[in-house]
Amino acid sequence: MRNYGAKAINLIPFLFEPMTKPHKNSHPDWSVLLQRIKDELESLSESDREWIKARLAVIEATQIALDELFCKAGGAESCAGCDGTCCGCGQHHITLTNLLAYLLEGEDPPAPDFSRTCPYLGEMGCRLPVARRPYNCITFFCEILDDRLDPAERKRLRTLDHQLRSQYLIVAERYPVATLRGLWIGLERSGEGQLLRSTDKDVLE
Ligand code: SF4
Ligand code: SF4
Repeated sequence: MRNYGAKAINLIPFLFEPMTKPHKNSHPDWSVLLQRIKDELESLSESDREWIKARLAVIEATQIALDELFCKAGGAESCAGCDGTCCGCGQHHITLTNLLAYLLEGEDPPAPDFSRTCPYLGEMGCRLPVARRPYNCITFFCEILDDRLDPAERKRLRTLDHQLRSQYLIVAERYPVATLRGLWIGLERSGEGQLLRSTDKDVLE
Protein backbone atom coordinates (compact mmCIF):
# COMPACT_ATOMS: atom_id res chain seq x y z
CA MET A 1 0.00 0.00 0.00
CA ARG A 2 1.22 3.44 -0.71
CA ASN A 3 -1.45 6.07 -0.34
CA TYR A 4 -4.98 5.16 0.29
CA GLY A 5 -7.93 3.62 -1.26
CA ALA A 6 -10.17 0.63 -1.82
CA LYS A 7 -12.82 -0.97 0.32
CA ALA A 8 -12.82 -4.53 1.60
CA ILE A 9 -10.19 -6.28 -0.40
CA ASN A 10 -9.16 -9.87 -0.68
CA LEU A 11 -5.47 -9.48 0.02
CA ILE A 12 -3.32 -11.88 -1.91
CA PRO A 13 0.31 -11.21 -1.21
CA PHE A 14 2.27 -11.11 -4.43
CA LEU A 15 6.01 -11.34 -4.09
CA PHE A 16 5.29 -10.46 -0.50
CA GLU A 17 7.06 -11.78 2.54
CA PRO A 18 5.05 -11.16 5.68
CA MET A 19 6.97 -10.79 8.90
CA THR A 20 5.04 -12.28 11.70
CA LYS A 21 7.60 -12.59 14.47
CA PRO A 22 6.76 -10.06 17.16
CA HIS A 23 9.66 -7.98 18.32
CA LYS A 24 10.34 -7.75 22.03
CA ASN A 25 11.47 -4.15 21.95
CA SER A 26 8.35 -2.61 20.44
CA HIS A 27 9.01 0.90 21.77
CA PRO A 28 12.71 1.57 21.39
CA ASP A 29 14.01 4.96 22.37
CA TRP A 30 13.98 6.38 18.88
CA SER A 31 16.27 9.33 19.45
CA VAL A 32 18.86 7.11 21.18
CA LEU A 33 18.73 4.63 18.31
CA LEU A 34 19.09 7.35 15.68
CA GLN A 35 22.07 8.85 17.48
CA ARG A 36 23.67 5.42 17.75
CA ILE A 37 23.38 4.88 13.98
CA LYS A 38 24.61 8.43 13.26
CA ASP A 39 27.65 7.91 15.46
CA GLU A 40 28.50 4.67 13.69
CA LEU A 41 28.05 6.31 10.28
CA GLU A 42 30.45 9.04 11.35
CA SER A 43 33.17 6.52 11.99
CA LEU A 44 32.55 4.57 8.79
CA SER A 45 35.26 4.87 6.15
CA GLU A 46 34.57 6.97 3.07
CA SER A 47 34.74 3.88 0.87
CA ASP A 48 32.13 2.12 3.00
CA ARG A 49 29.85 5.14 2.85
CA GLU A 50 30.22 5.25 -0.94
CA TRP A 51 29.54 1.52 -1.13
CA ILE A 52 26.24 1.96 0.73
CA LYS A 53 25.31 5.02 -1.35
CA ALA A 54 25.83 3.08 -4.57
CA ARG A 55 23.46 0.32 -3.37
CA LEU A 56 20.94 2.94 -2.24
CA ALA A 57 21.03 4.63 -5.65
CA VAL A 58 20.00 1.37 -7.35
CA ILE A 59 17.34 0.76 -4.70
CA GLU A 60 15.91 4.25 -5.20
CA ALA A 61 15.78 3.95 -9.01
CA THR A 62 14.22 0.49 -8.84
CA GLN A 63 11.59 1.57 -6.31
CA ILE A 64 10.63 4.53 -8.48
CA ALA A 65 10.23 2.17 -11.46
CA LEU A 66 8.06 -0.13 -9.32
CA ASP A 67 5.93 2.81 -8.28
CA GLU A 68 5.40 3.72 -11.93
CA LEU A 69 3.92 0.25 -12.45
CA PHE A 70 1.82 0.72 -9.33
CA CYS A 71 0.45 4.01 -10.69
CA LYS A 72 -0.21 2.44 -14.10
CA ALA A 73 -2.29 -0.18 -12.32
CA GLY A 74 -4.39 2.62 -10.80
CA GLY A 75 -2.89 2.26 -7.35
CA ALA A 76 -3.28 5.91 -6.43
CA GLU A 77 -7.04 5.76 -7.05
CA SER A 78 -7.65 2.30 -5.61
CA CYS A 79 -5.74 2.99 -2.45
CA ALA A 80 -7.80 6.11 -1.73
CA GLY A 81 -10.42 4.83 0.70
CA CYS A 82 -8.75 1.55 1.62
CA ASP A 83 -7.69 3.14 4.91
CA GLY A 84 -4.43 1.28 5.26
CA THR A 85 -5.81 -2.22 4.82
CA CYS A 86 -2.54 -3.73 3.70
CA CYS A 87 -0.49 -1.69 6.16
CA GLY A 88 -2.07 -3.53 9.09
CA CYS A 89 0.77 -6.05 9.01
CA GLY A 90 3.56 -3.63 8.20
CA GLN A 91 4.95 -3.24 11.67
CA HIS A 92 8.24 -4.96 10.95
CA HIS A 93 8.92 -3.93 7.37
CA ILE A 94 11.32 -1.00 7.67
CA THR A 95 14.97 -2.00 7.56
CA LEU A 96 18.23 -0.37 8.57
CA THR A 97 18.85 0.19 4.84
CA ASN A 98 15.78 2.45 4.65
CA LEU A 99 17.06 4.53 7.56
CA LEU A 100 20.50 4.82 6.00
CA ALA A 101 18.90 6.38 2.90
CA TYR A 102 17.94 9.34 5.10
CA LEU A 103 20.96 9.51 7.34
CA LEU A 104 23.55 9.40 4.56
CA GLU A 105 21.88 12.48 3.08
CA GLY A 106 22.03 14.27 6.43
CA GLU A 107 18.27 13.93 6.97
CA ASP A 108 16.35 12.41 9.87
CA PRO A 109 13.75 9.76 9.05
CA PRO A 110 10.26 10.39 10.41
CA ALA A 111 9.83 9.11 13.96
CA PRO A 112 7.75 5.93 14.22
CA ASP A 113 4.31 6.15 15.79
CA PHE A 114 3.81 2.87 17.57
CA SER A 115 0.12 3.57 18.17
CA ARG A 116 -0.53 2.86 14.46
CA THR A 117 -0.82 -0.54 12.82
CA CYS A 118 2.40 0.38 11.04
CA PRO A 119 4.53 3.02 12.78
CA TYR A 120 4.91 4.84 9.44
CA LEU A 121 1.23 5.01 8.60
CA GLY A 122 -0.07 8.58 8.53
CA GLU A 123 -3.44 10.17 7.86
CA MET A 124 -2.74 10.30 4.13
CA GLY A 125 -1.05 6.95 3.81
CA CYS A 126 2.59 6.03 4.10
CA ARG A 127 4.86 8.72 5.53
CA LEU A 128 7.91 7.28 3.79
CA PRO A 129 8.60 8.46 0.22
CA VAL A 130 8.57 5.88 -2.55
CA ALA A 131 12.37 5.74 -2.86
CA ARG A 132 12.79 5.03 0.87
CA ARG A 133 9.85 2.73 1.45
CA PRO A 134 10.52 -0.82 2.71
CA TYR A 135 11.04 -3.61 0.19
CA ASN A 136 7.97 -5.56 1.30
CA CYS A 137 5.74 -2.51 0.82
CA ILE A 138 6.98 -1.29 -2.53
CA THR A 139 6.76 -4.76 -4.12
CA PHE A 140 3.28 -5.51 -2.79
CA PHE A 141 0.54 -5.42 -5.40
CA CYS A 142 -2.79 -6.59 -3.99
CA GLU A 143 -5.13 -8.72 -6.11
CA ILE A 144 -6.96 -5.69 -7.49
CA LEU A 145 -3.77 -4.05 -8.71
CA ASP A 146 -2.17 -7.27 -9.93
CA ASP A 147 -5.26 -8.03 -12.04
CA ARG A 148 -4.76 -4.75 -13.90
CA LEU A 149 -1.27 -5.59 -15.09
CA ASP A 150 -0.84 -7.11 -18.52
CA PRO A 151 1.61 -10.03 -18.95
CA ALA A 152 4.48 -7.76 -19.96
CA GLU A 153 3.92 -5.52 -16.94
CA ARG A 154 3.67 -8.54 -14.64
CA LYS A 155 6.97 -9.80 -16.00
CA ARG A 156 8.53 -6.38 -15.44
CA LEU A 157 7.22 -6.40 -11.89
CA ARG A 158 8.96 -9.71 -11.23
CA THR A 159 12.20 -8.48 -12.81
CA LEU A 160 12.21 -5.29 -10.76
CA ASP A 161 11.31 -7.20 -7.62
CA HIS A 162 14.24 -9.57 -8.14
CA GLN A 163 16.63 -6.68 -8.82
CA LEU A 164 15.45 -4.80 -5.75
CA ARG A 165 15.56 -7.79 -3.43
CA SER A 166 19.11 -8.55 -4.57
CA GLN A 167 20.26 -5.05 -3.64
CA TYR A 168 18.69 -5.22 -0.17
CA LEU A 169 20.22 -8.66 0.36
CA ILE A 170 23.68 -7.47 -0.72
CA VAL A 171 23.49 -4.69 1.88
CA ALA A 172 22.35 -7.24 4.48
CA GLU A 173 25.24 -9.58 3.57
CA ARG A 174 27.67 -6.82 4.38
CA TYR A 175 25.77 -5.32 7.32
CA PRO A 176 23.69 -8.13 8.89
CA VAL A 177 21.58 -5.79 11.03
CA ALA A 178 20.09 -4.58 7.71
CA THR A 179 18.29 -7.92 7.40
CA LEU A 180 15.17 -7.94 5.23
CA ARG A 181 13.38 -9.38 8.26
CA GLY A 182 13.17 -5.81 9.47
CA LEU A 183 14.90 -3.26 11.68
CA TRP A 184 13.50 -4.47 14.98
CA ILE A 185 14.57 -8.05 14.42
CA GLY A 186 17.98 -6.80 13.24
CA LEU A 187 18.33 -4.84 16.46
CA GLU A 188 17.40 -7.84 18.56
CA ARG A 189 20.11 -9.83 16.84
CA SER A 190 22.77 -7.17 17.35
CA GLY A 191 22.02 -6.49 21.02
CA GLU A 192 24.43 -3.84 22.23
CA GLY A 193 26.89 -4.70 19.46
CA GLN A 194 27.94 -2.55 16.53
CA LEU A 195 25.08 -1.95 14.08
CA LEU A 196 27.27 -1.23 11.07
CA ARG A 197 29.86 -3.92 11.55
CA SER A 198 30.93 -4.93 8.05
CA THR A 199 31.51 -8.46 6.85
CA ASP A 200 33.29 -6.89 3.84
CA LYS A 201 31.10 -8.97 1.51
CA ASP A 202 29.78 -7.15 -1.53
CA VAL A 203 28.10 -9.98 -3.41
CA LEU A 204 25.35 -12.45 -2.57
CA GLU A 205 26.67 -15.82 -1.46
S1 SF4 B 1 -2.42 -1.85 -2.31
FE1 SF4 B 1 -4.47 -2.75 -2.48
S2 SF4 B 1 -4.98 -3.37 -0.38
FE2 SF4 B 1 -3.26 -1.94 -0.25
S3 SF4 B 1 -4.20 0.08 0.11
FE3 SF4 B 1 -3.88 -0.18 -2.11
S4 SF4 B 1 -5.80 -1.00 -2.91
FE4 SF4 B 1 -5.80 -1.29 -0.69
S1 SF4 C 1 5.95 1.43 5.74
FE1 SF4 C 1 4.02 1.01 6.76
S2 SF4 C 1 2.65 2.65 6.09
FE2 SF4 C 1 4.38 2.58 4.65
S3 SF4 C 1 3.65 1.23 2.98
FE3 SF4 C 1 4.79 -0.04 4.47
S4 SF4 C 1 3.25 -0.90 5.84
FE4 SF4 C 1 2.32 0.85 4.75
